[in-house]
Amino acid sequence: MAEPDGTGAVFERVAIIGVGLIGSAMALAARRGKRVGTVSAYDAAPGVRARVRELGLVERVAETSADAVRDADHVVLCVPVGAIGAVAAEIAPHLKPGTVLSDVGSVKRSVVEAVLPHLPQGVHFVPAHPVAGTEFSGPDAGFAALFENRWCILTPCAASPEDAVERVRQLWLSFGAKVDTMTPAHHDLVLAITSHVPHLIAYNIVGTAAHLEAVTDSEVIKFSAGGFRDFTRIAASDPTMWRDVFLNNRDAVLEMLGRFLEDLSSLQRMVRYGEGDALFDLFTKTRDIRRSIVAVGQETAAADFGRRDGGAATRDDG
Ligand code: NAP
Repeated sequence: MAEPDGTGAVFERVAIIGVGLIGSAMALAARRGKRVGTVSAYDAAPGVRARVRELGLVERVAETSADAVRDADHVVLCVPVGAIGAVAAEIAPHLKPGTVLSDVGSVKRSVVEAVLPHLPQGVHFVPAHPVAGTEFSGPDAGFAALFENRWCILTPCAASPEDAVERVRQLWLSFGAKVDTMTPAHHDLVLAITSHVPHLIAYNIVGTAAHLEAVTDSEVIKFSAGGFRDFTRIAASDPTMWRDVFLNNRDAVLEMLGRFLEDLSSLQRMVRYGEGDALFDLFTKTRDIRRSIVAVGQETAAADFGRRDGGAATRDDG
């Protein structure tokens, strides 16, 4: 059991449902963090289950979600946001009282609404979102250091007693993450502007380049400059995950997108009317924001923007 000095197991038996990027990274971080007894896992895809066995990511790979969660004292749903409600319904009859259920979904309000109706009496739910990811998916994509020095946001709800929240906090601390807490609605608003709208912009600009008739695809690839290249990396993010993010955080994304479009129109005006001073002032302000992100350790100041050699994954949000 967990000791107050941060030693001992926080959870004895953890079950991970969905072993993609985040599920596999959690399994590896759990082994390294040494605050979890054993880990079992289940993924809907037989090929993924076989690969998880081959990689030896967990102690036990189950053939059904029911079998994976049996006897677990902590269950983490690491499936796309749109599948979380259905998985909660599927495993609910097999959860024992006292179990702490959690998830890692990038949207929180809709997840809470989807899970709570299925939650059995005596089972707690502590929604979580590790703000860490890469553009890669699947069980080969995870690595133990993914969450290191990254934020994990907990969004307690009506079914989150304090001691359950504290245990989930301890687990994420053992993965090297920093933990913050906020309401699900506030989480969705913050992430809409810091992550969801930026992804939408990346998908859009890469899509626009692909639609240009006067510029060939090979020219886009051959002459792609730093700015565009950074967008293409973000726009390579998992289509299922991001479809579900926009379907499930519609209100906050539309609110932030409205503001973004107003500011874009104002920028368009500055360019059209040659308002150099206004452009210079804005770019100075935005450079300061970049510098403060580097200063708090959320990004490196390296010229490669933290990219590693050889096309390896770049850590970003998600
Ligand atoms: P991923 O690599 O695509 O992995 C998801 C896995 O879940 C896949 O193997 C998928 O199988 C499986 N799955 C789908 N439906 C299932 C079901 N009903 N039962 C069991 N397994 C199921 O995705 P990920 O990037 O790890 O994302 C997982 C969650 O983490 C999402 O909710 C996402 O919002 C959140 N998140 C992602 C990031 C990021 O940057 N990627 C960051 C933070 C949080 P199939 O491939 O066969 O569908």
